[in-house]
Amino acid sequence: MDDIHDIYLCQLSETVSCGACCGLYNLPNLSREKLEILLSNRTKDFESVPRTEDGIFEFQRRNKAPHRLSRPFPQFHHCPFLGLIGGEKWCVGCLLHPAMPGNNGVDYRSLSWYGEMACRTYFCPTTKKLPGVYQSILIVVIDNWYDFGLIVTEHSLLTAYFKEVESRLGRRIAASDYTQNFLAKSAFKEFAELKSKWPYRRHDAPGPCNFFFENGLYPRPDVFRATPDIRLSPYENILRELDSGFSSAKEIEAADQLLDDLFLKAERALM
Ligand code: SF4
Ligand code: SF4
Repeated sequence: MDDIHDIYLCQLSETVSCGACCGLYNLPNLSREKLEILLSNRTKDFESVPRTEDGIFEFQRRNKAPHRLSRPFPQFHHCPFLGLIGGEKWCVGCLLHPAMPGNNGVDYRSLSWYGEMACRTYFCPTTKKLPGVYQSILIVVIDNWYDFGLIVTEHSLLTAYFKEVESRLGRRIAASDYTQNFLAKSAFKEFAELKSKWPYRRHDAPGPCNFFFENGLYPRPDVFRATPDIRLSPYENILRELDSGFSSAKEIEAADQLLDDLFLKAERALM
């Protein structure tokens, strides 16, 4: 039985945290650089906001307007209270949280769109569905909030990855396989980065953002194939979870080769 909720995935360190369920990535033309600038400006702006209902609602109005009509998942929020937190502002977090400097211990999340209760108690499907050992590996390996938040919600993709690695090794893996193993870490990091760098994302995909709420609103479609001669892949699950689309048989060959190479790296590192 895997550990459920034993591992807290939302805030891990000064540099690693997650805001995916607050809609962190639900922005058009997403890139790490753009998101960092947005969060940094918003955090600075919030510092001078009076901690009153009017002050906070005015800040909310200012900050939600630009992306309102162009979110990849229009019925999924992007919370305007996401900002950068921590002494050095190196990770993502909630500007309304009572621990934020300036909030004087007051929890202002009741003024958010989700409401304080949902903000405090929600846990994404990964926390229950991704086996504890794979959660631990994520924590050991991913060292920055941007990549962490993009991959952490992808429990099916992560499970498919680690199952393939285990099948090649002929054994189960453990977090200790990764702790002092630079090459294994690097192989997994490369895989995780496919979330933002995948070259075979189908043209109408919503970008790297994942809608993981399991309410049927935005189901992930099967792999898109422009012509009937494009064969199935041995990595069909992974391709689907990466929102793939292929315009030719040659393209799917290349995608399989890319994944083969990544798995070979992991296999060699963990043998
Ligand atoms: S998406 Fe999951 S891991 Fe990320 S903050 Fe929400 S509950 Fe935590
Ligand atoms: S107010 Fe709620 S939804 Fe918004 S950033 Fe804070 S925790 Fe996330």
